Amino acid sequence: MKIAIIGFGAAAIGFIEKMKDTGNEIHIFEKSKDIYSTSISGIRADGKLFVSKEMGGNLDTDIDLQKDLVDFWIGKSGNGEYETGHSFRNKDYYIQFYEKGFQPIISDFYHLGTDQLKEILFNIYEEFRSLPNIHFHFETPVSNIIVEGGHVKINNNETFDKVVVAVGRSGHKLIKAIIKQYPEIVLDSTKVDIGVRLELPNHIVEDLNKEMYEFKVRYKSKTGYMVRTFCNNPSGYVITENYGDITLVNGHAKLKEKSENTNFAILTTVQLTQPFNDPIGYGIHIAGMSNMLGGKRVILQMRNVSY
Ligand SMILES: Cc1cc2nc3c(=O)[nH]c(=O)nc-3n(C[C@H](O)[C@H](O)[C@H](O)COP(=O)(O)OP(=O)(O)OC[C@H]3O[C@@H](n4cnc5c(N)ncnc54)[C@H](O)[C@@H]3O)c2cc1C
Repeated sequence: MKIAIIGFGAAAIGFIEKMKDTGNEIHIFEKSKDIYSTSISGIRADGKLFVSKEMGGNLDTDIDLQKDLVDFWIGKSGNGEYETGHSFRNKDYYIQFYEKGFQPIISDFYHLGTDQLKEILFNIYEEFRSLPNIHFHFETPVSNIIVEGGHVKINNNETFDKVVVAVGRSGHKLIKAIIKQYPEIVLDSTKVDIGVRLELPNHIVEDLNKEMYEFKVRYKSKTGYMVRTFCNNPSGYVITENYGDITLVNGHAKLKEKSENTNFAILTTVQLTQPFNDPIGYGIHIAGMSNMLGGKRVILQMRNVSY
């Protein structure tokens, strides 16, 4: 079978790893210039993995599979180095947060670091590209996918038996085009996660960072919205992400180089109702207004628009 994968990010890597020995002919189309070039792809920042029964949105992922995934990424580092912590396995912390109305989330965290992630990505790429059935096509943005007679045509050009679209959030334009053409594939387009990122001096959250690496809690606000902490970066860095029309913020931490601050996000899932069906558009408008108010300095985190 001839398979196309659009995007070379975390999802594509998982798929290729499973399929690499099946003898299928696999072509990866990636819009970035090459494996070294920076992009907004999340695969290049932070590298935090978790094993938890209580996290992961609506996906119920087997705990052994989660552990296998962690081992896979750590194994690709070549040196086995990472940071770790255990969120709310400590009963005293659990009770302290619970008494204040928070729902503590039990999870194990493993942090590879933005710096080390570069080498890991390179190691994975080198292994894949050495296989005769795997072909990389960089600098090849896909803007068009057509399903025709049981086959799939990409960019009005080459035809494949199957296509895997794994473009992450920087691929939202392609996703929008696909769902416009094939609305029947959409399971849900009514949710968007919106939030803010906070940065604190390390000493304020030092004990939590040491014990848990990431402290994970949910809280039901007075307005009825469920809010949660997300993506804690001890001794980390806040960065801006430029998506052309809008600027957003994100955070990450390195394994070796440390700052004196910790940053984390507080997110809420906004669930809207029919006829609303454009969570990306909604998020982009809010981000645009926030940029306008702050003269390009107000920053907002938008995450995982779900379909
Ligand atoms: C700063 C940051 C930190 C993060 N930290 C963590 C973390 O610590 N732990 C964690 O679990 N998650 C983290 N995430 C989230 C995680 O990175 C994403 O959930 C994950 O990368 C999504 O995988 P993906 O393969 O769907 O997309 P991505 O990894 O984003 O990959 C998509 C790829 O598709 C390419 N692409 C896009 N459009 C096209 C197109 N039209 N044609 C061809 N190629 C295209 C992009 O260039 C990109 O390489 C972080 C995200 C960010 C931005």
